[in-house]
Amino acid sequence: MVTTKAIVLSRKKVAESDVIINLLTRTEGKVRVYVNGARHPKSRFASATQPFNEGVFSLFINKDLSRLSEVQISNPHMTIRADMNKIFLATYMLELVELAIEDGQLIKGLYDKVAYALVALGETEHLQLLKVVYDLKFIVAIGYQPVLFSCSVCGSEANLSTSLSVQHGGVVCHSCLSDCSDCTAFTLEDLKWINIVLKKPFKTVQQLAVSDTMLLKIGTWTNRFIATHVVRRPLKSLKLLSIL
Ligand SMILES: [Zn+2]
Repeated sequence: MVTTKAIVLSRKKVAESDVIINLLTRTEGKVRVYVNGARHPKSRFASATQPFNEGVFSLFINKDLSRLSEVQISNPHMTIRADMNKIFLATYMLELVELAIEDGQLIKGLYDKVAYALVALGETEHLQLLKVVYDLKFIVAIGYQPVLFSCSVCGSEANLSTSLSVQHGGVVCHSCLSDCSDCTAFTLEDLKWINIVLKKPFKTVQQLAVSDTMLLKIGTWTNRFIATHVVRRPLKSLKLLSIL
């Protein structure tokens, strides 16, 4: 048996009164867990298996389907649950994990980043900013490093434009720009902001001035990058976010 911190990503009803939950665990990566009787109102697992919950889970790990032995919820994220827009964004954040990570896949440091983002979501009112920062940090956490200081097509460090290619995952030089069919033009200020987001903690990023127009432009690019490189099927929760 393994005892680990975990966040409930999703919960699906099965059989009469059981559920299957997907967990992002700190030590075992993403894990599918069968929970007997969790839909009985009196079950001790009824509320513990709700999405967004963070806690300490004791699991019998199995390759296909693990089992839940014990759980102690440490943070039910009540401030997220009290605000519909925060629920939508939390749903998006966790669906991104669910679609980007394979069952059993462990990415070091990812759990802490997602846990931190949920706490930040509970506290912030600037949801659009948090969404873009989360996307960029998530992309880096799972191994994609947007290329900002050399051409993502030819590798040249000279003659760089400020346009970003989705397909190539970074800036392109002026020679490659004419052949780039998926490039978005950014300003140097936009790229400097992206660079700081990639390197600095959310607390620092929150203090930087950023306009809604800039966030919308960068957010549109990260959405396209994620759809192209990160997830295997479209994120359903993204539709709900368009109202943010
Ligand atoms: Zn080039």
